[in-house]
Amino acid sequence: MSQQVISVQQLNKHFANNHALKNVELSVTQGEMVALLGPSGSGKSTLLRHLNGLVCSDKSAKGYVEVLGIPVQKNGKYCASVRQSRSQTGYIFQQFNLVTRLSVLHNVLIGALSRTPSWRSLSARFSLSQKRQALAALKRVGLEQFALQRVSTLSGGQQQRVAIARALMQQAKIILADEPIASLDPESSRIVMEILRDINQQEGIAVVVTLHQVDYAKRYCPRVVALKQGEVFYDGPSEQLGDNSLAALYGSQSEQDS
Ligand code: ADP
Ligand code: MG
Repeated sequence: MSQQVISVQQLNKHFANNHALKNVELSVTQGEMVALLGPSGSGKSTLLRHLNGLVCSDKSAKGYVEVLGIPVQKNGKYCASVRQSRSQTGYIFQQFNLVTRLSVLHNVLIGALSRTPSWRSLSARFSLSQKRQALAALKRVGLEQFALQRVSTLSGGQQQRVAIARALMQQAKIILADEPIASLDPESSRIVMEILRDINQQEGIAVVVTLHQVDYAKRYCPRVVALKQGEVFYDGPSEQLGDNSLAALYGSQSEQDS
């Protein structure tokens, strides 16, 4: 049986009077690629952030989050083991979150830092074998020829691929990507989604990716979890998410503007 890599139970989150997540339940098994859909403000980013211990659920609730079998948070409190799961979780942001003044290679090497017990300074010397690993990760995303260039000289799509290489360097067992293609043109979006799918299929890394566009979700992700006003509205095969459900999910709002 496939191993469960994400388990979310009764997750509730309020921001003041705004009930942003309502009794969310989510279970993801190893090797899955899941699209997280829903209109703007439906709670997608908040849910992802809970999975990486960047946000904690309501204190009064019975919420529980476990990633890679490691407790992340329980009853509104972070678990001591959150660092352990975070170190094995690659997090990819819409705005890449790279250190643009550093080289591409250095940015990938940063992925190795979270595997060490303490956070070493960025000036730490990396071993030859780590540099080889970083180059291999860059090759994986098709950017080895840019290794010594500054990140700031790359296009958005290329920068997102560096972020993916960093997650590979981290030896992440799971990748959480929050709107990774929202700032990219269609061609770069396709390349980034194909790389995520290849990593998912070849390395068996579970991927949870929030997306604006339903068509990308359907093309690349076998499973969709859709949130509506903080509640799980749909959880199932992407091909079975029909036009009626989509209309109910997005209302009159165009999915592209959401
Ligand atoms: P999505 O990613 O689906 O667009 P979010 O998870 O960003 O939605 O937001 C869900 C709801 O929570 C929204 O109503 C948003 O305004 C609110 N929210 C998110 N983060 C914060 C925050 N740090 N402080 C206050 N409200 C927040
Ligand atoms: Mg969001």
